[in-house]
Amino acid sequence: MVNLLPFDRAGLGDWCEAIGEKRFRATQLTRWIHQRGERDFARMSDLASGLREKLVAEATVATPPVVSTQVAADGTIKWLFDVGGGNAVETVFIPESGRGTLCISSQAGCAVGCPFCATGAQGFSRNLETAEIVGQLHHAEFELRARLGLADGERAVSNVVMMGMGEPLQNYANLLPALRLMLDDHGYGLSRRRVTVSTSGVVPMIERLRDDCPVALAVSLHAPDDALRNELVPINRKYPIAELLAACRSYLARAPRDFITLEYCILDGVNDSPAQAERLLDLVRGRTPGEPGIACKVNLIPFNPFPESGLRRSPQARVDAFAAVLRQGDVLATVRRTRGDDIAAACGQLAGEVQDRTGIDLRRARQGERRVAPPASRRHAASAVAGA
Ligand code: SAH
Ligand code: SF4
Repeated sequence: MVNLLPFDRAGLGDWCEAIGEKRFRATQLTRWIHQRGERDFARMSDLASGLREKLVAEATVATPPVVSTQVAADGTIKWLFDVGGGNAVETVFIPESGRGTLCISSQAGCAVGCPFCATGAQGFSRNLETAEIVGQLHHAEFELRARLGLADGERAVSNVVMMGMGEPLQNYANLLPALRLMLDDHGYGLSRRRVTVSTSGVVPMIERLRDDCPVALAVSLHAPDDALRNELVPINRKYPIAELLAACRSYLARAPRDFITLEYCILDGVNDSPAQAERLLDLVRGRTPGEPGIACKVNLIPFNPFPESGLRRSPQARVDAFAAVLRQGDVLATVRRTRGDDIAAACGQLAGEVQDRTGIDLRRARQGERRVAPPASRRHAASAVAGA
């Protein structure tokens, strides 16, 4: 049995040809599968009966099985999908007036290992396949249409953000067909500006994405200088801030928006001082020596705590003061509203079930290691950096 869910239209066209059918059947199939949510080939009424029989015999439309569905007090919905081998990943739907955003996972775990992220703390098991990525959207869209009682043709998911578990640009080959299905007018029909890839900064893949499928880009910066970012986002050691911002500038040439979103998770005593806000302002405005700056919007994310992190959320006044510095410098800064935290569905709380294959948990347990120094000593280190 071949699962047709992961094929974008070009891939489905190739498959149709391979079974002796015309390529244009791919358009009909894409519509049935991704626009109408039909899984039963026998009901695809505009296909010739011979083809329908062939499909029933040889193909399937399979999304990963749902382990659980939780609904938060604010209407946020979180699904846990079983992806086999003891791994499960999470998907979150965030309803807002006039739009519905789906937050999709790209990996079981994550190898980047940011110390403030529950996914990173679990280690890494494996990349999700395209069927598992697009399957989250397929399942959510059609379950929501039924739950919300939407009329034919009305869509539940208006925006997709690749901000669930995992680093999407470390799973590029499997991500790309999923993005193409999201954008396809015969698929989910989302515009490029309504699909956002969030990355910790995999520079070569930012360049690939620009050339292959330039959707909206969010970059997880979290620190205004390399010394601190090396700790908070360890991939910075490979692709430091100057290289990352250069990739962002080149991305802008083809981006669907004229700015990049910079995400900045505010951690108490770690990256939240007014001096660090000034430093961030200098960086993005091109007032740091050797750095031309970047057209951006800064999205400040209140830290969502989880027990093992040893980190704390900054007090609201500190977040406001940080945002004020940026705004006074004419940089657009928004503070993300936390949604669904009563069901651990907020940013960075997605943990699913991950069978770590990198041994991070084991190593940490053996060494009794803390991955970020406790806030008091970090405050000292951060101000030393900021004052340098
Ligand atoms: N790996 C990608 C996408 C998934 S994380 C990335 O890092 O961009 C999505 C966003 O949630 C990132 O900006 C990430 O830094 C943020 N995040 C992670 N853990 C968090 C936490 N505990 N509290 C708040 N935001 C968090
Ligand atoms: Fe991975 Fe993103 Fe979490 Fe960092 S913040 S560990 S890159 S999922």
